[in-house]
This record gives sequence, structure tokens and C-alpha cells, in this order.
Amino acid sequence: MSNLFEQTDQYSSDNYSPLKLALAKGYGAKVWDVGGKCYIDCISGFSVVNQGHCHPEIIKAFQQQSQKITMVSRALYSENLGIWEEKICKLANKEKVLPMNTGTEAVETAIKIARKWGSDVKQIAESTTEIIAMKGNFHGRTLGSLSLSSQDNYKQGFGPLLNNVHYADFGDIEQLKNLINEQTTAIILEPIQGEGGVNIPPDHFLQAVRKLCDENNVLLIADEIQVGLGRTGKMFAMEWEHVEPDIYLLGKSLGGGLYPISAILANQNVMEVLTPGTHGSTFGGNPLACAVSIAALDVLIEEKLVENSKNLGQKLLNQLQLIDSHIISDVRGRGLFIGIELTEEAKPYCLKMIEKGVLCKETQGNIIRIAPPLVINEQEIDKVVHVITEVLEKGRQ
Ligand SMILES: *Cc1c(COP(=O)(O)O)cnc(C)c1O
Repeated sequence: MSNLFEQTDQYSSDNYSPLKLALAKGYGAKVWDVGGKCYIDCISGFSVVNQGHCHPEIIKAFQQQSQKITMVSRALYSENLGIWEEKICKLANKEKVLPMNTGTEAVETAIKIARKWGSDVKQIAESTTEIIAMKGNFHGRTLGSLSLSSQDNYKQGFGPLLNNVHYADFGDIEQLKNLINEQTTAIILEPIQGEGGVNIPPDHFLQAVRKLCDENNVLLIADEIQVGLGRTGKMFAMEWEHVEPDIYLLGKSLGGGLYPISAILANQNVMEVLTPGTHGSTFGGNPLACAVSIAALDVLIEEKLVENSKNLGQKLLNQLQLIDSHIISDVRGRGLFIGIELTEEAKPYCLKMIEKGVLCKETQGNIIRIAPPLVINEQEIDKVVHVITEVLEKGRQ
């Protein structure tokens, strides 16, 4: 086993510093390490396995499609692209979809669409177009997405990045009003910030942003790559305020934890700025991705995972808020997306929880993010509550 760690560390680039824990197997909300120890997964590969690990229906779709045809370039049509497109468009209530592969590519695509829309529709001079992002966001690691980041340690040394990105505090509508001007083409936000620490905006903030965008003819881009598809107890986290963005970005669990696929969804009046040759992706919308994603969406709906997220998430939140501990400064969340904010470093507590069979990970140093697969059941929730209570009530030992 130690050989596994040594081998990996010897050859891995050093951009990660993983815990010394190697997983070998997963099913539903449970995972097993290489030694056979079982854990309840409250990381879910960062909200990728919402449908649970190794879901049999999703695996079946993958296997069946992989024996038929896996790759068709977008120079041609394929059998299931349209089926997937109709499904995801109807789910998001948008007319058009553009499939990509990873989350950050969806963000890149949205930046391109927003800039082209600014140029074509708003007649903004190309070099002056501006985008507003929220402080504490996470939109991905490629250069365009990275340009939206307000975290200097993510950007240091990688410049020059895209210019004309401005930042408002997440939840501060007055700052947004002050930043918006004739050059502004889009506001991009996560309706609930994930990496930023499970940050929920103040009530009516999303509605106020929608209004501001309408008044100023600015696109509202909702990055739902992490919080979309049931994670927060709604299909889309924007629904918490009944707001429709101009562009939805999806990724992560859109591929059912099995295959990367991401999506950019918008109505035709926005999407039409892309014409043949202006954008593309070799793997985007390939038959294997579509087959897996169709199954992933079917599972989400047929197994009522959004409702499960809402109900069990509320139960989990209620129980966690009862924990009596001087090191907890806040417990917040929506659906099965919960942040426990501590007054000190969270990592030692995460390690204790892992020791006791609950996988979790800290973010921003002092926040424990709890995001189990949406297939988690009551019994497993009880175990999660038990372990977290035990570790946080007693504190670090
Ligand atoms: C994970 C994430 C991304 C980036 O997705 P990748 O697949 O890692 O490129 C973008 N936005 C949000 C909100 C995310 O959580």
C-alpha cells in the first residue's frame, strides 16, 4: 500500500497534496479504501457523483453505448445527441445547448459567448468589454476561467490573464450597481458559492441581480457546475429565488460520475452569436458522453434525487445546527450542500471524521463542506450526524 503512495508521489506533478488515503471501490454513498475500510462519502468527487458511485443504470448505458459507437465528430450527426439535447434543454427551460467536456470549458465558452454578444448586440468595442464576477468565486483553472478568480494565489505567476474583469462582494447589490456600465457584457456568479465556502447570498440578491441585468442589457451567467442538478435541493440553485439566468453552465454530475460532459444552455437570441467555425470541441457531445448523461439525468429524475437532497439535506442541517461546540461559528446549507464554519483550521477535524468513517474535506481553511451523493439514505445521514457531532463536540484530541 505504501508503495502505491510512493509511486504516485514520485510521478505526480506537485499541484495536489492529497491525504494518504487511496480509494478502491464505491457504491451509492459509500466508498471503500484499498484496505477494505468503508466510508460514507461526503465529498462526492466535489459533487460529481450526485447519482451515487457506480450507479448500475449509468454503467449499463455506458457499456451498451461503448459497444455500439463512442466517437462521432461534430462534422456529422449521431444517434443520441439530439435526444440528450432535448432532455437537457427542457430541464433548463432553454432553447439551445452547446456540449463541452469539463466545467472550465463551459466557463470559457460562456466568456466567449458573452464577449461576442457584447460585440455583436451591444456594439461594445472589443478591447473594452467588461465582465463582472463575484469575490470568492470558483470557475475553473484554465486561463479564461482563472481570469475571473479573485484569489491571487490561484493567479500568481500565470499572467497575463484576461483584463477588464471586475469584482463585487458576493451578495452586495450596491457594489454591482456601481461596477456596471455600458461596457459590461455579463455578470457571472455561482448562485451558491462552492469552493468559496458554501456561501449563500442574502435573500432576494439573485432577483436583484436579474433586475440589474435587465435594466442594463447585461447577460446573467449562472455557473451551476457544482450546485446544479439537485445538489441544493432544487434542480437548479437559481430556483431558490425563481430567477432564470440568460446562460446556465452545467458540468460535474451531468456525467453521472462516469464520464466528463459539460453544457452551456441559453436561448437562441444569445446562442446565435456563435456561427459555424466560431467555437468547437473534438469530444463535445460524443455519443458515449450523451448516453451516460441521458442515463444520469434519468436517474436524477426517476429516483427523485432532488427531493431526497431537499428532505435529507434539511434533516442533516437541522441536526448539525444542534451541535453544541464553541469551535463552530456557523452551519449553513441548502439541500445536501452544507458548510460547517469553524473558528479554527478545519483539516484536523476532517481527518478525525475520516478516521471514524466519514469522508469530508475542508475548503478555505476553516470550512468543512458536506456534500454526499444525493442517493444517501436516512441511516447513512444518521451515521454522518453521529460522527460529526462526536468529533466537533469533543474537539480535537
Ligand atoms: C468544479 C467547478 C468548475 C470547474 O470544473 P472542472 O470540470 O474542474 O473544469 C467551474 N465552476 C464551478 C462552480 C465548479 O465547482
